[in-house]
Amino acid sequence: METISYEYEGALYVNLTNRCDCRCVFCLRHNGHKGSIYADDLWLDHEPSRQEALDDLLARDYSQYRELVFCGFGEPMYRTDDLLWLVDWLKEQVPNLPPVRINTNGHANLILGRDVTPELKGRIDTISISLNGSTAEEYCAVTKPKDGVKAWEAMLDFAKKARDYVPHVVMTIVDKDKTPEEIERCRKITQELGVTLRIRAYIED
Ligand code: SF4
Repeated sequence: METISYEYEGALYVNLTNRCDCRCVFCLRHNGHKGSIYADDLWLDHEPSRQEALDDLLARDYSQYRELVFCGFGEPMYRTDDLLWLVDWLKEQVPNLPPVRINTNGHANLILGRDVTPELKGRIDTISISLNGSTAEEYCAVTKPKDGVKAWEAMLDFAKKARDYVPHVVMTIVDKDKTPEEIERCRKITQELGVTLRIRAYIED
């Protein structure tokens, strides 16, 4: 049985795709075993259709969750249209829907070839973008994006644009292997973009 949604620390996480344009060194997708700490098996043999995902999500009791998070085992914004379609339906059908967050690598505009940030307005409460580095070189070494430096630039531009449409724009770094100087540079980047920096602890899997 494939896992479309799963509970983790009081939130409901949604897993819509395995696709990603990165190969982050710490990603659970390519560490040789498909399980993760979050759910038994997040690898999707087929991507759920919109309707399959909606049926799964409508079966949940939202009074239990503090947040609904699109995340999963790949980059959720590959499916931006489906994701926003789901949010629209859920907002219509679920009176107590908790705030909605997307965890993303911030490459949606590059991947999809258009600026999707205006479409997030009124639908997404928080967008959490993986910053992962304080320079293009560091970023590319850690995330190995298929488009190289262009992906770094696209991610920063996405964060800046998202600020106009999403109430909470957060950028995250993982503390492991980051020097204080690198963390300081990340802080400066987020300050200049006017977004929040969140430093996450590395999770051993
Ligand atoms: S962006 Fe996310 S899903 Fe993609 S490789 Fe990196 S950690 Fe994995």
